[in-house]
Amino acid sequence: METAAEIAASKWPALYIAIEHHRNTIDKPMTFVDAAWWIPIYQDNSNDIVLKSAVQTGKTEYLKCKSFAGCLEGWSVLYTLPGDHDAATFVSNRIKPLLERIPFYAKAVGHTDNVRIKKIWGGTIKYIGSNTIEGFKEFPAQMLVIDELDYCDQENIVFAVDRLGSAQQRTGVPPTTVRSSNPTLPNYGIDKLFNLSNKQKRLFKCLHCNTWQPLSWFDNIVIQEAERSYLLRDRDWSEGAGLDPKILCTKCGGEIDRFGYAEWVAEHPGVEMSGYEISKLFTAQTTITKLWSDPELGFNASLNNPTKYKRFITSDLGMAYSGAGERVDEQVLAACADANYHMPHEGANCIAGVDVGGVFHVHCEEIVDGKRVKRYIGHVNSWEEVGKVFEKYNVWLAVIDVRPETHAAKRFQAEWSGIVWLCEYPPNPTTKDMQVNQAEAYIKIDKHQSLDASLEDYLSKRVVLPVDWQSLDGGDFVAQMIAPVRTEVERSGGIRVAIWVEGDNPDHHRHADNYCKIASDLLDAYTPGVC
Ligand SMILES: [Zn+2]
Repeated sequence: METAAEIAASKWPALYIAIEHHRNTIDKPMTFVDAAWWIPIYQDNSNDIVLKSAVQTGKTEYLKCKSFAGCLEGWSVLYTLPGDHDAATFVSNRIKPLLERIPFYAKAVGHTDNVRIKKIWGGTIKYIGSNTIEGFKEFPAQMLVIDELDYCDQENIVFAVDRLGSAQQRTGVPPTTVRSSNPTLPNYGIDKLFNLSNKQKRLFKCLHCNTWQPLSWFDNIVIQEAERSYLLRDRDWSEGAGLDPKILCTKCGGEIDRFGYAEWVAEHPGVEMSGYEISKLFTAQTTITKLWSDPELGFNASLNNPTKYKRFITSDLGMAYSGAGERVDEQVLAACADANYHMPHEGANCIAGVDVGGVFHVHCEEIVDGKRVKRYIGHVNSWEEVGKVFEKYNVWLAVIDVRPETHAAKRFQAEWSGIVWLCEYPPNPTTKDMQVNQAEAYIKIDKHQSLDASLEDYLSKRVVLPVDWQSLDGGDFVAQMIAPVRTEVERSGGIRVAIWVEGDNPDHHRHADNYCKIASDLLDAYTPGVC
């Protein structure tokens, strides 16, 4: 099938574009040899398609082919990404080179003055960010493609979908919607749409007992042994043997081949909206070994840290996860207490964290055998007294809240030059990593991610508390450590996220502890006296 006209007249235009002409981002033809599970999705001609997907499964190539197939029909297609900047980058890095490089597209592209609009065959695609509602108002679309739905402005998206509905009255053609995303929170965004759809899951047939089942990390691969502790169901697996852990049938325990016999099966067959759940458990991009034991990103490495755990569940398994309710609780603190340890009245070689407010909450710690051993936990009333605590505990590296007293904090930093670093939690952090400005001894860090990291230290027992932890600072230590909780909140544009929220209770000790954690992380990147 060589010509556009032939493909347009075919039953599955998106599939034929993909197979006959399209090339992926590394300029390779789309063979589907490793990904036969995509073919039924490319063949799905329903008007409302929902993809709830792990990352790097090939969904962007699908959305491109689908939107080009819309152009073959002569449609106007609105291709939406979360932000205007995302849309601009997508056009210049992914679409423009593709349309120039592939002759099939190149000879079909017409001229436009707007770089965000591509005229192909008789159709038009406009690439926009969901954050500007004007983009949805101006363009009369018959097809709406949305990528990374969960990160899009939810209110504008609802408006766009409503507006598309009116297209049918004008053109007589029922509109087509293709919505796709890596899921985030349960029953929000793509997860909510998938739950409303016919819910197609990839079911695998156990060749030992003929039971059909979806592949589930928790049912077929691991078994829970204790809180935050799992074993492989495949007891015979060993890391060095070079084989993947086996996926075992939930009914008979026989082995299931994740590239073996499988079909998409709808849980709600009567529902029109066509939804697919795509996980890495049946894609060729990764191995079960990597998912289980990768030192950075694997399941085991993620269990004590909500950020890492959420990444594993959403990005690898393609499932929604909230982490709501996660907190440092009294049990977690008790597990870190040493019954024989009392904090000293003075110390040596300490790092410190200070939370600045009406009073100053100060923690001093010494790193011993990779553990953060608490040497001082308390509060003082002035910068001068903070200095006295530093002297007493021989603090050589401290991280201090830059807010709310920015000028005073900078004065204190100048007094303790080479020792004190200032730390800011930016309201909209641009990167997940800690940004370190060594020249100014200034740190910017994502507050929620860093609170996850300090929680991980407690869950992994990398903090040592004294025997009298319950009465420290008149009981305020415990009360303030347990105050922040991970909670789902709604941000502007209706975008929902799970973040740490302190509620109505003070949380100064939790932050003083967090600044200590940040100081301990700085140790890797910093040598005293060099700043
Ligand atoms: Zn079986």
